[in-house]
Amino acid sequence: PRQFFVGGNFKMNGNIDSIKSIVSHLNDAKCDPNTEIVIAPPALYLLLAREHLRSGIEVAAQNVFDKPNGAFTGEISVTQLKDSNITWTLLGHSERRVVLQESDAFVAKKTSAAIDGGIGVILCCGETLEQREANKTIEVVTSQLSAVAKEVKDWSKIVVAYEPIWAIGTGKVASAAQAQEVHAAIRKWMGEELGGEAQEKTRIIYGGSVSEKNCGELAKEGDIDGFLVGGASLKPAFVDIINARS
Ligand code: 13P
Repeated sequence: PRQFFVGGNFKMNGNIDSIKSIVSHLNDAKCDPNTEIVIAPPALYLLLAREHLRSGIEVAAQNVFDKPNGAFTGEISVTQLKDSNITWTLLGHSERRVVLQESDAFVAKKTSAAIDGGIGVILCCGETLEQREANKTIEVVTSQLSAVAKEVKDWSKIVVAYEPIWAIGTGKVASAAQAQEVHAAIRKWMGEELGGEAQEKTRIIYGGSVSEKNCGELAKEGDIDGFLVGGASLKPAFVDIINARS
């Protein structure tokens, strides 16, 4: 069985006080020991979160660059994350693909750099409402993942996050059946493109308006191995999502 995985993506939210208070709430909470927990605060607060968080909860960057150092103003490297004990990164979030215009190929390069450097990647994929309505969901998601498969052979440190864009920050969560259908298709694609081991072992988590109210239903699905939580990860109810299986 795959270990349940819950990530908190703070996006560009929070300040020193609020992040300290989220961290201290998490430190004191009764979290299911079977859930792997990772929080992703803004870059400026990664060290603060790491310094205050208890062991057993990991910290992720929201993005990383594909070069180890040098003249790349505004970027942060895998080497620097490792130096700071930041063991994960998100990559390919739709807000970066859409707002910052990151291509599938660029996301793939950065995923490759992160995996080669030894940090874990929460690799995001997902379709727009228009693509869903045109029945292109599976095609869009598998082509986003295929770009990464071209560059990365070892998926043992990748967690795939399926985040339909129409569900992000909208309160319009995918139904358990809708999410399960896409997760199952991703798992089938993994079998074909990455082999049986990756198919069986890779966690596929769901993101998009996950809350303490809807997480229980989603967590029952066979191919939903956890969540990537935005808004609700800033609130005490994040703990209920961490404990969705318990
Ligand atoms: P919300 O949970 O706020 O919809 O955000 C989801 C998300 O984008 C997590 O990466």
